[in-house]
Amino acid sequence: MESIDESGKKRPALRVLWNFHHACNYRCEYCVRKDDDLARCPVPVEQLAAVWRRMHERYGTCWIDFTGGEPSTFPGFEHLVLELARDHAVHLITNLSLPLETWERLVRGTAKNRFVISASFHPTQAELEPFLEKCDLLHRHERLRFVNFVAWPPLLEKLGFFRKRFLERGLPFYALAFMGQHGGKQYPDAYTPEERSLINDSGRTLVEIEARRKAYQLGEVSPKGKLCRAGSQYIHVDQGKITRCSRLQGESLGDLYSGEFDLLKEAAPCPADYCQCEFEWLKEFESY
Ligand code: SF4
Repeated sequence: MESIDESGKKRPALRVLWNFHHACNYRCEYCVRKDDDLARCPVPVEQLAAVWRRMHERYGTCWIDFTGGEPSTFPGFEHLVLELARDHAVHLITNLSLPLETWERLVRGTAKNRFVISASFHPTQAELEPFLEKCDLLHRHERLRFVNFVAWPPLLEKLGFFRKRFLERGLPFYALAFMGQHGGKQYPDAYTPEERSLINDSGRTLVEIEARRKAYQLGEVSPKGKLCRAGSQYIHVDQGKITRCSRLQGESLGDLYSGEFDLLKEAAPCPADYCQCEFEWLKEFESY
């Protein structure tokens, strides 16, 4: 992965998945967060802006996957995005629950290569039509990467309908395998072959590599022992604590907010049995 620092400085490119806080305004039944784990970020917006200015001095322009919880529930959210997008490339993962006008302002206030969005559609919490309208706006301005949809078993029967509604407007729609228990069964293992094919079919707007990604996502292949760049070219940050990735949260590399951390120098073997979403950092995906 090459540096995305337009200044041309020879610095390592770094991608950061920033689990900003756990707070969310939705209560989806399939969410991994429980009611006693919904803390909002306590760090003031100016302090966060200073943290990311220091990151820019150290690594150049980072790619930040800005997620939560729901980042937009932070009181200083809009200001924070504008600050981050000055020095870094920000990829926001959001439920798009803020009003259309907020998204219009953010699109106007940021450059195209500095602020893009993946929108999570949660049909048990959000109305389809207003959600589509916001997606249209982002798509028109080339800010929409994907619409994500969790293939929770009770929602599978509507997956085809939703997929059609998004794809007919040219909106890239992507079903994610549900990870967890439902009806006494453990998913993704419990998906039937037909359900797997339905989920895979929803990825048809993505590039060919999706077939290999889906195999990891569905738990069909293990990353254990394979070389992975997580920890060197990519880090996971949960409310300040840095780890190689979300699977390895017991092994801290330091603290983003204090600036005291040491990243790995190069790719290292993965110790995990499975990897649900960050498998793209395996060396086998390096050319992607
Ligand atoms: S393969 Fe997945 S679990 Fe293993 S180190 Fe890489 S990102 Fe972490």
